[in-house]
Amino acid sequence: MNGIPGLLLLGALAALANLAGGLLLASSGAYRHESKLLKYLVALGAGFMLAAIFIEIVPETVALWTDGARGDDAAAAVVGAFTLLLGGYLLIQLFEHTVAPHFHFGAETHPEHVIRPSAAYAAIGGLTIHTFFDGVSIASAFLVNTKVGLLVFIAIMLHKVPEGFTVASIMLASGRSSRKAAAAALAIGAATFAGVVGVALLKERFAGSVAYALPFSAGVTLYVAASDLIPEVNRKEEKNPMVSIVVFAGVAAFYLLHRLIPR
Ligand SMILES: [Zn+2]
Ligand SMILES: [Zn+2]
Repeated sequence: MNGIPGLLLLGALAALANLAGGLLLASSGAYRHESKLLKYLVALGAGFMLAAIFIEIVPETVALWTDGARGDDAAAAVVGAFTLLLGGYLLIQLFEHTVAPHFHFGAETHPEHVIRPSAAYAAIGGLTIHTFFDGVSIASAFLVNTKVGLLVFIAIMLHKVPEGFTVASIMLASGRSSRKAAAAALAIGAATFAGVVGVALLKERFAGSVAYALPFSAGVTLYVAASDLIPEVNRKEEKNPMVSIVVFAGVAAFYLLHRLIPR
């Protein structure tokens, strides 16, 4: 994958996956309609993302921030990087679950909580901030190197269809039309693309910007994997142990690709 045009292509693919998820639901017209396949996709995505964060992004971040430093200097540099990671995590706690009164991944099964327009739009606003950083993650990973970029792209892609589905489900559950549901999926896709473009533009101005964008967006990805997707895997209403097993399959799939893709 070469340079900015390749990056924009991947950003567009991620955005289209959001739209596809939205259209999948909007065409069925029933917000509770959730296929088993999507549930497995959420679990696979969660495992793959967690592995990508800890095996790929965190080591690359530490390498970028320490850059030959040793001892106390290296430790202080790592604190800076991990503070950004924590900041990314908390940003999504703030916008998806503090500002927005009701948000979770998957089908919106509680229409009473999103019937107020402000509740539905706050949830979608939080999700839009999260998808912007999905784009930032993809782009900053590619700017580190192609291998990291490809693995992070796959990690993000795995949850993009369920994400489009989620936003469409919120719109339908709050009484809006299929057309508006599809438009909301398009909006979160556009935010993803904007995240990719944002990093590409920033890179032109500040050579060091990737060192900041990488851990911050990794914090967002960590939130999405561990605090949005895993709770959906573990949802009490449905006890299907296979779904949880697929989380481990996601980790295994990551590890396999990590070994197979040359640097
Ligand atoms: Zn709900
Ligand atoms: Zn996302």
